[in-house]
Amino acid sequence: MNILLYLAKRFIAGETFEQAKEVVKRLNDRGFLVTIDILGESVTNKEQAEKARDSYIELLKNINTLGLNSNVSLKLTQMGLDIDDSYCHENVIKIIKTAVEYKNFVRIDMEGSRYTQRTIDIFKEVHRVYPQNIGMVIQSYLYRSKKDAEHAIENQHYIRLCKGAYKELPDIAFPDKKDVNKNFEEMTKELLLKGNYPAIATHDEKLIDIAKNFAIENGISKDKFEFQMLYGIRRDLQERLITEGYRVRIYVPYGTYWIPYTIRRIRERKENLWFVLRNIFRR
Ligand SMILES: Cc1cc2nc3c(=O)[nH]c(=O)nc-3n(C[C@H](O)[C@H](O)[C@H](O)COP(=O)(O)OP(=O)(O)OC[C@H]3O[C@@H](n4cnc5c(N)ncnc54)[C@H](O)[C@@H]3O)c2cc1C
Repeated sequence: MNILLYLAKRFIAGETFEQAKEVVKRLNDRGFLVTIDILGESVTNKEQAEKARDSYIELLKNINTLGLNSNVSLKLTQMGLDIDDSYCHENVIKIIKTAVEYKNFVRIDMEGSRYTQRTIDIFKEVHRVYPQNIGMVIQSYLYRSKKDAEHAIENQHYIRLCKGAYKELPDIAFPDKKDVNKNFEEMTKELLLKGNYPAIATHDEKLIDIAKNFAIENGISKDKFEFQMLYGIRRDLQERLITEGYRVRIYVPYGTYWIPYTIRRIRERKENLWFVLRNIFRR
């Protein structure tokens, strides 16, 4: 647990808003945009879902009061997707209404594949009423994603493109990283050409360079898209992109429910996993 906590500190801004706020201010001062995530997922009772919903409403108010340059990211299983779809939708609507009031924006993170279609359905319903205040995520490891991206482009949805962080079976997701990257590259190009202010969310330098070069070759200016990266990962690259004049948004998670998020970050990288194993065997 101590090793997990040690690693969590690298990826998470703290357990409270007070701690996260200081991180966000520092990032804003250095020119970064931010999206704040209150850690939480897989909620199974209404009390927890409503608590999470109210925390997001409070967060949007605080962002406005403090003048932070940040929007918010949330997960639908945190808002009660495992309880009932229309209940989850109602919770999201309450948050979106606050975002509208403060002229802010809510990004619906994408979770494991058993939630993909229901997440898209709820997103589309909300988007119909509040098109400027909500965005969604597409994961390049899923076979279905190219079609989802085409649909998103047709409807000018705000999309964050990422590779995907959940364990998926080969009948629905590319098992080979080369294919995930190729799909990411192809969707990046389509979204840059025809999408609505896409967010290219990766720390993969090769894919970032491809996006930069493609934008330059096609006369797409730097204010037509943004790069997004996770707090605590490739800070050197984050700084470099800012120096080059790109928009970079940092995903800043905070809260007490940090274990699943931290485990996803550990699993993503062999070195993180080795670090954990080395420390277990050293004891
Ligand atoms: C802003 C943002 C939002 C995201 N939202 C979602 C979402 O809603 N749903 C979802 O499924 N996934 C989400 N992800 C996670 C994403 O799907 C990937 O799992 C994650 O970004 C790692 O993939 P990569 O694109 O960085 O490429 P990779 O090929 O995995 O990594 C490229 C390089 O980045 C560095 N790196 C990557 N991960 C780590 C790490 N954990 N620790 C240390 N270094 C690392 C390494 O240098 C590595 O060589 C998000 C990612 C970002 C950046």
